[in-house]
Amino acid sequence: MNLDNCPRCGKLFAKNFRDVCPVCIRDIDKEYQLCADYLREHKGAIISELSDQTGVSIKQITKFIREGRISMVNAPNMSYPCESCGTLIRENHLCDSCRSRLVKDARRMTQNEGKNTESDKLKPTDVAYRGLNQYKDR
Ligand SMILES: [Zn+2]
Ligand SMILES: [Zn+2]
Repeated sequence: MNLDNCPRCGKLFAKNFRDVCPVCIRDIDKEYQLCADYLREHKGAIISELSDQTGVSIKQITKFIREGRISMVNAPNMSYPCESCGTLIRENHLCDSCRSRLVKDARRMTQNEGKNTESDKLKPTDVAYRGLNQYKDR
């Protein structure tokens, strides 16, 4: 049996496919149910309202959206914070300005590495776009 600390409550538990302990799974499912119920009756809710009304953290709601458990198709005003700056967005993990910054950073990083990465034939832009595609594919 594979034991690990639950990232949510810190307790030791036998690893499972959800990566949190059974108690937390139940909590998270309960939180999801609260959100789903609220959204069914308030389709135009925004994320801060949903969080206030259900007591579920914005971070957890963001997770539900990313996992596809909460569908934004049925919640036209729903959005979630950019992972970097917190601006509310509806797609990808980052807002447009953070994404373009990421591209720039990746380019600069590759240039700095210069000598050490001669075996790496990728152009800086390739690296940046690979990063972006990872976000898109989820
Ligand atoms: Zn736990
Ligand atoms: Zn941002």
